[in-house]
Amino acid sequence: MITRQFGIPVTSPGAILRREKDLGTPLGKKTAEVLQSGGLVSDKIIIELIEDWLRLHGGHGFVFDGFPRTLRQGESLTSILARLRTALDLAIWLEVSEQTVRDRIAGRLQCGECGFTTSSSSAQFSERAVCPYCDGPLVRRNDDDLSVLQIRLQEFRTKTEPLASFYGKMSILHRIDGNRERDAVFSDISRLIEDKR
Ligand SMILES: [Zn+2]
Repeated sequence: MITRQFGIPVTSPGAILRREKDLGTPLGKKTAEVLQSGGLVSDKIIIELIEDWLRLHGGHGFVFDGFPRTLRQGESLTSILARLRTALDLAIWLEVSEQTVRDRIAGRLQCGECGFTTSSSSAQFSERAVCPYCDGPLVRRNDDDLSVLQIRLQEFRTKTEPLASFYGKMSILHRIDGNRERDAVFSDISRLIEDKR
């Protein structure tokens, strides 16, 4: 799935993997089981998927949402981009408290058809939980269970946090307070991207 915001393609490993699952590929089935149990899909698989995606869609700019998540992924991305003769302009670090994470997981809804994600507190979904894009049913995600939160937080601290200094040293890291309303966070991100065009 590709969404276009800022006039350039945006994707995430989650969107790529959901597509594999929907297509019923062996890779899609295997990774769905890993995610169900609260784990992360291996770096090797994620990196291969990202490289394929970049070759197809990354020719005129791109935004990754939730990638890279590990130092190894970050280093691999640097190598892939060197092969493609391009480089990252920005790494945006959304800082959120553990309480914010808990609140958002508890209120998150996802379309069972197209993968669109929203929160149950969004006013337009309070009466009828239907996807605004495809009329599919909005349901709680399976991997949203609070019981997997501790595993995810631990993985974040050990695997993801080292990326802050990795991109800090490259002087492309920008920190944004992600505890605020969605619109405020989005407008900060938009401004950073617009400044690079
Ligand atoms: Zn939908």
